Amino acid sequence: MEQYLQLPIFKLISEVADEQGRECYVIGGFVRDIFLHRPSKDIDIVVVGSGIELAGQVAARLGKKASLSVFKNFGTAQIKYKDLEIEFVGARKESYLRNSRKPIVEDGTLEDDQNRRDFTINALALCLNKERYGELVDPFNGMNDLENFVLRTPRDPDITFSDDPLRMMRGIRFSAQLRFFLETETFDAIVRNRERISIISKERIADELNKIMLSAKPSVGFILLEKTGLLELIFPELLALKGAETKDGVGHKDNFYHTLAVLDGICANTDNLWLRWSALLHDIGKPRTKRFDPRLGWTFHNHNFIGEKMIPEIFRKLKLPQNEKMKYVQKMVTLHMRPIVLSEDEVTDSAVRRLLFDAGDDIEDLMTLCEADITSKNPDKVRRYKANFQLVRQKLKELEEKDRLRNFQPPVDGKEIMEIFDLPACATVGEIKTRIKDAILDGIIPNEYEAAKKYMYTIAEELGVGKPR
Ligand code: ATP
Ligand code: MG
Repeated sequence: MEQYLQLPIFKLISEVADEQGRECYVIGGFVRDIFLHRPSKDIDIVVVGSGIELAGQVAARLGKKASLSVFKNFGTAQIKYKDLEIEFVGARKESYLRNSRKPIVEDGTLEDDQNRRDFTINALALCLNKERYGELVDPFNGMNDLENFVLRTPRDPDITFSDDPLRMMRGIRFSAQLRFFLETETFDAIVRNRERISIISKERIADELNKIMLSAKPSVGFILLEKTGLLELIFPELLALKGAETKDGVGHKDNFYHTLAVLDGICANTDNLWLRWSALLHDIGKPRTKRFDPRLGWTFHNHNFIGEKMIPEIFRKLKLPQNEKMKYVQKMVTLHMRPIVLSEDEVTDSAVRRLLFDAGDDIEDLMTLCEADITSKNPDKVRRYKANFQLVRQKLKELEEKDRLRNFQPPVDGKEIMEIFDLPACATVGEIKTRIKDAILDGIIPNEYEAAKKYMYTIAEELGVGKPR
């Protein structure tokens, strides 16, 4: 701990606070993370009195390299200095109205300020005044909770969560991120207060979901969301995957837990948030496509296409980006079965070329997703799939080098076809182009200009297209 408080910035804040005769503490996530050995660059400072005045003096002493922003309405100020972001706030007491998470704020003591915090481990404060430098102020025994990996609210959890229901999401996010446990009373209060989540903006919920998604084992968060009843309220499409039905003695796997296994699996291999979202959503179309066929058992035909179509609505509702990131997730979901289907049969060049053509630059990500999707409990089956996958990867590499199919551009383009045969833009031009592309993907001709041009004349003749000029 000592080494963190040795940073010159803390010494400076200490000096200025003493000059101004104000009690001053570093508090919250930064202190928690010191003890968890997770060094962080976000520092929160609480001052008994005006945080803005303290920040003003500190910024003045830091000179040009620091930038100060003051938020008068909130009574806070922020200094950006090097890679640090330092928030200054006056110690406050908060009281809440039922329908808003915006509190009525009054000046308060340090203890009032610690009371309004979400969890005991986030309420730890270290004094910065010279006389008490480094002294820990911990009225709720947060250190004990920290040592036992426990998340507990400083006050009655029903009050803490009802006041600001975002704290329920934060608690679940910390469970996933820090691998802490929600203490029983705290957990039960989330269940009781879950409906209050409706006053929280979708953007804030999405922020927390993304933090859960970026943790090492996101299933921890999603299972808690499900168990507390929050998932039903914020993401019903995901909850719909839960459950396994049996008919005529035939069951199917529980797609909720399968999805979470795929998600955890992929997290070991990628930090790409959107590839992780693709894993979470890869089977999202299953509930809508589920049928029981007396001969085939349970089927989920076209669940990938239905899933792809569901994504814009899901992204819109969750306030996730409606841009190329969403398109990428849609593409992953549509294609997620292709590598596996391909490896179940004989791995033909033609099928591998088509996969490469459809996936383009995202082919490695697609392979990563598909590999994570192999979660069978039968080790033989898993081994066989993985071996076949190696074969697909090998073939992809060979064909990629030979045929350059990634981001395929037709060697003979529409403009040239129109010129040669004196055709207007019409369906025939499209057909000639498609047949050239298919011939390349099927390995009938190489992906080269001369060969494609020669082949073009053959097709044109078959189609009875006018004499070339
Ligand atoms: P992270 O930075 O990883 O999100 P953090 O705990 O530092 O975690 P911040 O949002 O940076 O979270 O907030 C800093 C501190 O402010 C917290 O540790 C907590 O004491 C307090 N805090 C933040 N949000 C809330 C909230 N909704 N209710 C109560 N206290 C909060
Ligand atoms: Mg923080």
